Amino acid sequence: MGFDLKLVCLDLDGVIYRGDVLIKGADLFVKILRKKGIEYVFVSNSTLFSRLYYTKKLNRLGIHTTRDQVITAAYATYKYIEAEVKDREFTVFLLGENGLKRELSKLKCRFISPNSTERSDYVVVALDRKITYPKLCKATWDIMDGSRFIAVNNDALWPVENGFMPGVGVFVSALKTATNREPYVVGKPNTFMLEIATNRFKVNRNNVLMVGDKLDSDILMGKRAGVKTALVLTGVTSQEDINKISEELKPDIIAKDLMELAEILGLYP
Ligand SMILES: [Mg+2]
Repeated sequence: MGFDLKLVCLDLDGVIYRGDVLIKGADLFVKILRKKGIEYVFVSNSTLFSRLYYTKKLNRLGIHTTRDQVITAAYATYKYIEAEVKDREFTVFLLGENGLKRELSKLKCRFISPNSTERSDYVVVALDRKITYPKLCKATWDIMDGSRFIAVNNDALWPVENGFMPGVGVFVSALKTATNREPYVVGKPNTFMLEIATNRFKVNRNNVLMVGDKLDSDILMGKRAGVKTALVLTGVTSQEDINKISEELKPDIIAKDLMELAEILGLYP
């Protein structure tokens, strides 16, 4: 495939690893990129953990990574809100966990508790494994009262080692139903994370490849951003699914795994 590749954006789950297990060839693929001097960055809809956590996990799996090469939806949410508030003080009612809390704490942010009567400036919805009815009430009331409604992603399911768990989209749907409002969704398929990546590495979109396992998030984001897209079949999309792909979601490349992708790209052997 003859294009001048300068930056590869890679999804994590289903592309690099499954749970805690490295997908075969992912480490070699990244080694090849390093050897060829091609930049790479990981782009994940995840919000549970910090970027440092993913940096350590990737290095432990044999994939050389610095923190600047990890862009999570939690980090992107921080960047998005930062651009809005600048250095003003603001309040957040958060449905979410520590990864996101730590990112937002870098700003002049005060977190509102579920039983507070104070209306938050932002209601931020992420994966919250300790969600309760009082939290849903607070989020509903604040959104109805005019809080900015932000969702880190809208994924229906959250992939885990042995299958799936309900994802952030489940909470988003509940709040949409209650409030009749639409959130701003930061994560994939929004192009925001890809823009962070291309700005950081100062590359033109013609030189970027987005690699993912999910059509309606990874591939759709890449298409919306106008970059080249590659689907790998090591995650949620199966061989049978390929025959049913709509024109809108058709990736430029379909590869069995990252090693086959390296061959298609002419990077290997
Ligand atoms: Mg994935």
